[in-house]
Amino acid sequence: MKSIVTGGAGFLGSHLCDLLIEKGHEVICIDNLVTGDTRNLAHIESDKFKYIKHDVTKPIYFGDKIDFIFHLASPASPVDYLDLPIQTLKVGALGTYNMLGLAKEQGARLLVASTSEVYGDPLVNPQPETYWGNVNPIGPRGVYDEAKRYAEAITMAYHNHHGIDTRIVRIFNTYGPRMRAGDGRVVPNFINQALKGEDLTIYGDGSQTRSFCYVSDQIDGIYRLMMSNCSEPVNIGNPIEMSILEFAEEILRITGTDSKIIYESLPIDDPKVRRPDISRAEEVLGWKPKIDLTEGLKKTIDFFKSNIEPF
Ligand code: NAD
Ligand code: UDP
Repeated sequence: MKSIVTGGAGFLGSHLCDLLIEKGHEVICIDNLVTGDTRNLAHIESDKFKYIKHDVTKPIYFGDKIDFIFHLASPASPVDYLDLPIQTLKVGALGTYNMLGLAKEQGARLLVASTSEVYGDPLVNPQPETYWGNVNPIGPRGVYDEAKRYAEAITMAYHNHHGIDTRIVRIFNTYGPRMRAGDGRVVPNFINQALKGEDLTIYGDGSQTRSFCYVSDQIDGIYRLMMSNCSEPVNIGNPIEMSILEFAEEILRITGTDSKIIYESLPIDDPKVRRPDISRAEEVLGWKPKIDLTEGLKKTIDFFKSNIEPF
């Protein structure tokens, strides 16, 4: 089996490369390093692994047969995609178009990494895949949310019109080792603030909710989805929902730091609630998360203790 992982030098992509190698796949990682880092791949010794530096908004061709394309390339942290609005729109649109073209030429199966952000600031909680969402297309987060909605739309069009074998995973907040310390997401921010004895910065009053999934559970779900026969979108995330204030308190408890909590302004269009309905993943993939928050956070904190400086 030969697989391509776009965005393979990033957080999720590098863990997916590890799993695919473990499963015996030949793996080609394609990444332009806009938010990723080859240090995430430095531990890989397999001669079945190859890294290509390439921007997937530009076409790429392969002589050898490709079986699976995991299309994960995209800035993912709100701070990153607000810094890179055009690249984010281009990778969701042109990048997905190019990878679908490659899948068509190769007869490969393609999985696109979508997001809970397709539900926007949801008016339904928890969010089932049948919910159409509440996205502000012209707000600052629209560059990411709409890029991913377009990516889903073009993927379904290639599936229905050209018969391409496709999968759509809607990834909910996922955390773990190899997140970039400076990527601005709440997990690396709070952990690094706590480890440095700095105040934890809650945006807004901390009543907004998220549901945090550990990386090994997420990667297991993505792999199962690719190997399933389900072409409908599938939510993969942990359904245990908590407020950001509760999350900050959990980080203070586990790290045992003297850091305090401070409050800063809430970013525009920051979703007020988020929790996946994972009934479809349970039914179709036999998947549900295994790692609880305390265990996952301890592993992540250990990673950041040895990687305290941002990449
Ligand atoms: P990340 O920033 O760590 O990884 C993204 C990778 O994509 C980086 O290595 C980056 O360099 C690469 N990339 C970006 N644009 C590219 C381009 N044009 N060409 C080639 N490579 C490019 O982010 P992540 O958390 O690993 O996210 C991976 C995927 O999962 C993204 O598509 C993201 O939208 C999706 N996702 C992640 C989460 C999460 O909680 N981690 C949640 C929802 C969706
Ligand atoms: N957040 C926060 N402090 C931080 C970083 C984020 O309070 O230092 C909040 C953010 O406003 C959001 C939640 O934590 O409500 C999750 O933010 P993140 O950037 O991790 O991802 P999102 O779920 O918004 O895509």
